[in-house]
Amino acid sequence: MANKKRAFITGISGQDGSYLTEFLLDKGYEVAGLMRRNAVGELGNIKHVRDEIKIYYGDLTSPESIALALVDFKPDEVYNLASMSSPLGSFSDKLGSILITGVGALHVFERAKQIVPDAKVYQASTSEMFGAPSQVPQNEGTPFNPTNPYAVAKEYAHRMAVISRKDSKDPQFISCGILFNHESPRRGINFVTRKISVAVACIKNKKKEGIPLNEIGEPIVQNNKLKLGDLEAKRDWGYAPDYVEAMWLMLQEDSADDFVIATGETHTVKEFAEEAFKVVGLDWKDYVESDPHFVPPVQTGPLMGDASKAKKILGWEPKTKFKKLVEIMVNADLAKFS
Ligand code: NAP
Repeated sequence: MANKKRAFITGISGQDGSYLTEFLLDKGYEVAGLMRRNAVGELGNIKHVRDEIKIYYGDLTSPESIALALVDFKPDEVYNLASMSSPLGSFSDKLGSILITGVGALHVFERAKQIVPDAKVYQASTSEMFGAPSQVPQNEGTPFNPTNPYAVAKEYAHRMAVISRKDSKDPQFISCGILFNHESPRRGINFVTRKISVAVACIKNKKKEGIPLNEIGEPIVQNNKLKLGDLEAKRDWGYAPDYVEAMWLMLQEDSADDFVIATGETHTVKEFAEEAFKVVGLDWKDYVESDPHFVPPVQTGPLMGDASKAKKILGWEPKTKFKKLVEIMVNADLAKFS
């Protein structure tokens, strides 16, 4: 029997890391990942597959921990998904953003080149790099104009990936997925879509205790109200399991490249809230307030992606529509916060 392919995922316990793990296990891969050790031993989103994968404890800011894992596991494919992934949160830790999300990615590229030079590398780039964009929709040729520290760090990593790929003496296979927002029931609690789905569940189920806290340490729902930032902010929201397939497809190509991955549809935060409250028969206007605490200091958007290159070359298209995504998230949280 042929040897199984081996994939190594940084950020394996995050939203995308966990869906990618399931996707690759289904394809018959051996999967390993890097995750930070935490005091209480939480496994995040990978509890259910713990026995099927190998975990290396480490940190993107520690090239030694990345190297030890690569030397031991010898992957054919490396997916760099670890990052401090909150654009709003990055304003309160600008240095951490560049050290983890920017320089940390470079550590992954360099260690992979040294230890597993034939491995194909995927870099998790982001639509946030377009920031305040000069054109709508955005494609692979749209200039970057980042508006937050997270996006600046991602642009640094992206440009280092392109430089390594274009090195005429010793090119490295690094493909960058410029992914637009993608959500799921595993999305971090401080992202606006998940905040909404959790709030809908807590309000509908009349929960008084165990309500998750927001980024300023208050329960997401207080006095039956959910506080959000800019309700008119426009994003292109897809479903995370659809998007991890695109990551894998990029590494099945013969040459490395950049690909925008998006739905091509944009919706406001208000529309997301409206749909979400509608799932449980409530009117969003009775529960949602805008609060300047949650408005970023510099505005981003409108973000809308043109994924026609991915469709043409990778044969990738999003499968899950906006309303379905909202329904999946609300129903999952209704069960979780019952
Ligand atoms: P996520 O759920 O926040 O997962 C990120 C993972 O990175 C977490 O498991 C986190 O672990 C880990 N991590 C953070 N700092 C680390 C460090 N110093 N060393 C090692 N691991 C570290 O994010 P996601 O939604 O799955 O996104 C995956 C990647 O795609 C990220 O790079 C994100 O920036 C990028 N991206 C996401 C979107 C989106 O809409 N979801 C769009 C474009 C690009 P802890 O639990 O320890 O914090």
